[in-house]
This record gives sequence, structure tokens and C-alpha cells, in this order.
Amino acid sequence: MAFKEREKPFRLLVMESLANRMDLSRDDRNKYANWVKGYSGEMKFDSITEQLKCECLVLNDLYLTVRGKKFQLDTLVITAKCLFVYEVKNFEGEYYYENDKLYFERTKKEVFDPQYQIKNAESALRQLVDQMGYNWNIKKFVVFITNDFTLFQAPRNSGIVLPGMLKSHFSMVNEISGRLNQNHYRFAEEIKPMHMEDFSLHNVPYYENELLKKGVTCFYCGSFIEVFKKNRTCICKYCSKEEKVSQTIIRHAQEYIRLFPEQKITTAAICNWCDNRLSICRIRYIFNKHLTAKGTGRWRYYEFKKLDLFGIIEVN
Ligand SMILES: [Zn+2]
Repeated sequence: MAFKEREKPFRLLVMESLANRMDLSRDDRNKYANWVKGYSGEMKFDSITEQLKCECLVLNDLYLTVRGKKFQLDTLVITAKCLFVYEVKNFEGEYYYENDKLYFERTKKEVFDPQYQIKNAESALRQLVDQMGYNWNIKKFVVFITNDFTLFQAPRNSGIVLPGMLKSHFSMVNEISGRLNQNHYRFAEEIKPMHMEDFSLHNVPYYENELLKKGVTCFYCGSFIEVFKKNRTCICKYCSKEEKVSQTIIRHAQEYIRLFPEQKITTAAICNWCDNRLSICRIRYIFNKHLTAKGTGRWRYYEFKKLDLFGIIEVN
């Protein structure tokens, strides 16, 4: 298990809601599809690092700051010998290098070279590690995770890991035989809480409550749900999956506050958000049971005891 797990990016969660609840422009639909692909590429990479056999600590998705400058690491692996940093890319199709520049074969147009990204991230990490009083070697790699990716004239030994090289790359990492000492663990403990969630909605289209379709959406496929069994279970007619209504209510309150952080969670607001498909009594009951009530009478609103904007909040 990773020392720090990857969360679904905040803006992807918001975009997911928008994709369900409004008509996205073609550009936004493409952007959304790319973010989904990017995230699933990173998840695929996580499933590989999970299987590492050497003694190591894996920290996924770190958003850090050094000297006022923000930087992001897709994956950091702490081993006895060095730190490995990875930038994971989900490029598809054929690309080539020419005069140190990266081009997309089909259009012959230059594209942004992820090697610059990883170089900046490595330099920032080096400064941070130094600031924290450690002295580790850092090795950086750009991983192209999609099988449907070809790169011509790639500079050799440049830290590029092509899909066909993943196995040999991680065999090399697995051969590290040294053991982690308490400095490694302390470093991991210290750097983990330095991660600041990225709540920016950069590149997310403009939205407001009135423009979004109200209703109960399926956790699994995002379709709108119309069938409710005895007020206890939601049944999706598209994917046939079921969810407990209590879970659905919490999930929709979570979605609402994610989209409108300046608003308050009230039974009326969530009832409206769900297009009055769920009974207001049931919503009130679930909120009283699992959330903290604030204010009285018509000014009553609720707050999550521990708001997690990313994960699933399990309730019964
Ligand atoms: Zn469904």
C-alpha cells in the first residue's frame, strides 16, 4: 500500500458533476476526456509501483511548495539508494524528437516536452530536500504509460521510460537491496503533510447553480436515477447498480459543497439539488445522524464532521 494514496483531482470531480449536469462544449468534453485518461494512466502506474518488492515508500501525487513556488510530483518513491520521481504521461500515437524538441508525427507540430516539466520538478524537489536538511540523490523519469504510444529518435539514457521499458525499469528498482533507515521514514512523514490539495478550478468552465440540471445521479455511471425502492435504495436503470439512499444523500451533499463551497448545506438546498426526488424527512434524518447541525429553526444548516471533498464518506 502506498504511503500516500492518490486522490481523484478536485477539478476532475467538479468536471464530472458538470458533465452529468450541463451540456459541455466540445472543447470542454475533450478536456474532460483527457483528464479522465490522465487520471487512469496515473492509476495504472500506481498499480505497478504497488508491486515493488524492494524496501521503499511510495507517495503519490504531491503538490508542494518551495520558496513560494508550487510544483507537483506524480509519484515519489523513496528507496535506500535514492529518490525516484516520476512524471506519468498518457500520450497516444506517434511522436519524434528532432533537435531536442518533441513533435507529434501526424501534425508535425511541436508539443510540450514533459522532460522540462520533470526537470523543473526535480530541481524544486532538490531545493526542498536540501531545505529539510536531507541529502538524497534524485533520479527523474518521464513514463509514457499508454501502450498505443511510439516515440522515434528518443534521446537515450534521458530518463524516458517507454511502455515496453516499464518491466526492465522496475526490475532495476527492485534490485536495490539496501534497507530504509529512520531518516527515510522521517523524511516521508515530514513531506507527506506538506502536500496541499489543489482546489483551483483552472480550465473548468463557468457554472452556476441555476444552469445545472437537478436530480439524483448514479454513483457508478452518472446517469439520473428515477427508481427508489421504499426510500431505502436507489436503483440505476442504466447500469442496474444500487446504492443505499443514506449514502446517496451524503454523496450529493458532498457534491453540492464541492461545487458551491460558499453555500450552506440545508435540507431544502439538498432537496432541491436532488430535484425533490428524495424525501425531505429522510434527508433531515440522515443529516441529523451524520452531520453537525448549526443554527436553529429556519436558519438550521449542517456541516460535515470531517469534510472529505475527495473520498467516499461511508455511512449506514
Ligand atoms: Zn448507473
